[in-house]
Amino acid sequence: MFDVQDIRADFPILSREVNGRPLVYLDSGASAQKPQVVIDAVTRAYAEDYANVHRGLHTLSSISTENYEAVRGKIASFLGARDPDSIVMNTGTTEGINMVAYGWAMPRMEPGDEIVLSVMEHHANIVPWHFLRERQGVVLKWVDTDVNGALDPQAVIDAIGPRTKLVAITHMSNVLGTVVDVRAIARAARERGVATLVDGSQAAVHMPVNVEDIGCDFYAITGHKLYGPSGSGGIYVRPERFDEMRPFMGGGDMIRDVRKDGIDYNAAPMKFEAGTPGIVSQIGLGAALDYMTGIGMEDIAAHEASLRDYAIDRLGGLNWLNVQGTAPGKGAIFSFTLDGAAHPHDISTVLDKRGIAVRAGHHCAGPLMDHLGVSATARASFALYNTHAEVDALVDGLELCHELFA
Ligand code: PLP
Repeated sequence: MFDVQDIRADFPILSREVNGRPLVYLDSGASAQKPQVVIDAVTRAYAEDYANVHRGLHTLSSISTENYEAVRGKIASFLGARDPDSIVMNTGTTEGINMVAYGWAMPRMEPGDEIVLSVMEHHANIVPWHFLRERQGVVLKWVDTDVNGALDPQAVIDAIGPRTKLVAITHMSNVLGTVVDVRAIARAARERGVATLVDGSQAAVHMPVNVEDIGCDFYAITGHKLYGPSGSGGIYVRPERFDEMRPFMGGGDMIRDVRKDGIDYNAAPMKFEAGTPGIVSQIGLGAALDYMTGIGMEDIAAHEASLRDYAIDRLGGLNWLNVQGTAPGKGAIFSFTLDGAAHPHDISTVLDKRGIAVRAGHHCAGPLMDHLGVSATARASFALYNTHAEVDALVDGLELCHELFA
């Protein structure tokens, strides 16, 4: 039974004060707080079991390797992937997408080939594709959202042409909370022989994900948003895509043999994990995934849907607040601006004085800001530990902003 007060007790930071007020943390979309089990797993890994992985024959190295490799299986089952070896472990979504850009896309794309993107993408799912545009003459095709911030999957499918090689699309917008029907897109792309990369940075935190059901080729996640340590993460790669990929980085661990005149690579996924990995971060991510699945993704989604509905109701009552993104079924992420002169940075500063943490800025989504006709927004993003009372605290804080700036 989901009890938000029990959940809150698992997160030590939530009992601290900020500026003399109880912390109201509404910036989990940027990075989530960590439960004690994750902190303990990290401490234990350093205090009791630490050694480098894969290379040693001694006891600690075997334990460390076992603990680290177990996380591959945890990520796979969290994402509904059958095979743990379909997961490349890395530092997060940015690295995962760059691996696909350098390792899969660059060697296969000719000038005039196309990548289809939505206007809602995070810079992590834009900039690597601009590299291909700049360096290889690849064409980026952008698909807009409608006025509510919804993305019509058919519009994405219609943008796929004979030269399209990849659809790179977010599963949930980090600005609008819009959930994208990536299943419809990935399946249609597949029928046309086009690969799909899904940016799951936000979605995987808030809803059950099954990559086999979605039918995508790549699905990237980032550990620090999943209540795990920063610098942890992974990407699902449809196993047959591995054969089409060249390694992105070279170094130890990804090779079987190195000679003066050549090298032999390790098999995937190791082939794509060069150097000493983030051993302890990754072990912490494993603990975070266990924590989430222990609660149950369905229950987490239901709690957050209730927060979302309450926030829609309360924020909807503020007629001087412009909430961006009202797509049906959206996640509990709210971006807004205020009528009058208040810059989102001012909103964030006033709220911070009341212990309320929100993010203000472009949220690494430049094309979306242009599409919305704003330079920045303030964003409140909710997580499994947030409460309805915190929605009220946000509304009270916004009313104060309105009084100060209107
Ligand atoms: N994609 C989305 C939708 C995000 O929200 C973020 C982080 O804000 C990223 C990608 C990048 O994640 P990271 O910086 O952890 O690699």
